Amino acid sequence: MGFENYGIVSFTGETKAAAFVDYLAQGKVMTTKCRDCGTISFPPKMDCPDCMSSNVDWFEISGSGIVETYAVVTYGPSGFENDAPYTLAMVDFGRFKVFGRMNKGIPSEQLAVGMKVKAVPVKLPENRLSYEFVKV
Ligand SMILES: [Zn+2]
Repeated sequence: MGFENYGIVSFTGETKAAAFVDYLAQGKVMTTKCRDCGTISFPPKMDCPDCMSSNVDWFEISGSGIVETYAVVTYGPSGFENDAPYTLAMVDFGRFKVFGRMNKGIPSEQLAVGMKVKAVPVKLPENRLSYEFVKV
């Protein structure tokens, strides 16, 4: 998955991952871990991409991660044209990586590879839910 493909629309379009949105509504950013082989998926997957098992558990993405790379997006994907510019980041949580937007309140001069962030749920207009990274 590339940065350019990321969008809330395509994400929640994965109907099997609808529980992800339910967890956001509960204030939790969650993803899935395979009970058979231990592979962690993000975005969450109901079937393990490694061993095809459907034996997956949800867990909360808690604690902090390290920004591995980020990119300022100056155009919005379809339906999100008005959101640009925003910053997308790949954050390394150790055993898995999470891809998402940085909080717009972070001054651009503070954005840096290696900064510590955590994933938090956010409410968007029109009752949409997503998550973003905030500084720890
Ligand atoms: Zn597996």
